[in-house]
Amino acid sequence: MLQRSIFHTALKHFFTGGPETRRSLPCGLLCAFRWGPGLFWHRSKSSLPDVRERTLVAIKPDGVQRRLVGQIIQRFEQRGFKLVGLKMLQASQDVLSEHYCNLRTKPFYNSLVRYMTSGPLVVMVWEGHNVVQTSRTMVGHTNPAQAQAGTVRGDFSIHVSRNVIHASDSVEGAEKEIQLWFQAKDLLDWNCWDQISTGEL
Ligand code: UDP
Ligand code: MG
Repeated sequence: MLQRSIFHTALKHFFTGGPETRRSLPCGLLCAFRWGPGLFWHRSKSSLPDVRERTLVAIKPDGVQRRLVGQIIQRFEQRGFKLVGLKMLQASQDVLSEHYCNLRTKPFYNSLVRYMTSGPLVVMVWEGHNVVQTSRTMVGHTNPAQAQAGTVRGDFSIHVSRNVIHASDSVEGAEKEIQLWFQAKDLLDWNCWDQISTGEL
């Protein structure tokens, strides 16, 4: 619809404008159809589905106690992701049993819940292209002994029972976890000015 009206306006200028207009219009029109309305005003990247992918990241009680919050947030900011939700809280057993529902039968489940309720967590939602998979790579292997240096777990932890950080492991899992930890009203849709320099237009 918009492209049709651009086309009509351009045609009018082609016939009523001077020779300069006639020379430059065809190229302009081609670009308009190739790139769409984004050329005519600043398009919000957040309206595109793949950059709206979101994941849940939580700094676990050991990470908070060890004052690693700032360094961990910095890694996600530096990578180019956008923070859309953040809170510090003491987790309840109910939320944790839902969050770790697939681990309830594991021998380490009770000690995991004790650990996760031993102090405050910092829970965040990060948004951006491929954020779920990239966050898992940044976080590293579940067992820090096998985590690569350069990952959060590989740099800051040594034991599986104190591995500093959680990140959702799939897009579907992330959606469920975000709903569990956040209300929709607590997540902010905002345009980060550098989005056009961190992803394809
Ligand atoms: N965990 C543990 N012992 C184990 C395996 C896991 O204490 O042998 C804890 C650890 O904190 C881990 C969490 O349980 O992060 C969830 O396990 P999962 O397999 O989902 O690993 P993650 O997705 O966190 O890498
Ligand atoms: Mg997991």
